[in-house]
Amino acid sequence: MKIAQIGEAILRQPARKINPDEFNRNELQDFSEALLNTMLEANGIGIAAPQVFDPRAMMFIASRPNVRYPNAPQMEPLLLINPLIVAQDNDLVWEWEGCLSVPGLRGKIARPDWVEVHYQNLQGDKLHQRFEGFVARIFLHEFDHLIGLTWLDHIVDGKHIMANEVWAQALEQGLL
Ligand code: ZN
Repeated sequence: MKIAQIGEAILRQPARKINPDEFNRNELQDFSEALLNTMLEANGIGIAAPQVFDPRAMMFIASRPNVRYPNAPQMEPLLLINPLIVAQDNDLVWEWEGCLSVPGLRGKIARPDWVEVHYQNLQGDKLHQRFEGFVARIFLHEFDHLIGLTWLDHIVDGKHIMANEVWAQALEQGLL
């Protein structure tokens, strides 16, 4: 599926909650598979439905080790439908993020270090999970997409935006 780029109206719209009668349907299953495949093809570690022009409140998170987080957990992609934040760390952690919908840029964003969420699966079962560190950051980044935000909305200083290549170079030089 095509990935919406910043400036598209869908990225500014709050997502719509999935209703009880929409669970356990082939359409929901098929869409979730297409969403996952779009994320994998784009080499992403998370994606939210509005990023593929679909207004429903669902997302995947899929942490894996990377250059910035060599110790990040390798996890099976997790689908979260109708996610809600029920608790979060009061202390914020600053870290650089990128986004499939904001090509070419990285931004330094402060986010809670852990978060507790309620969500549903494809069957509509209600589940509870706590995410920490890098996984919490992915969750919060994707959750932003469900409320019409991107990392750009958290920028407090223009110096906290870098071109991808400049960021990668600075990281290599140990400057970040
Ligand atoms: Zn994003």
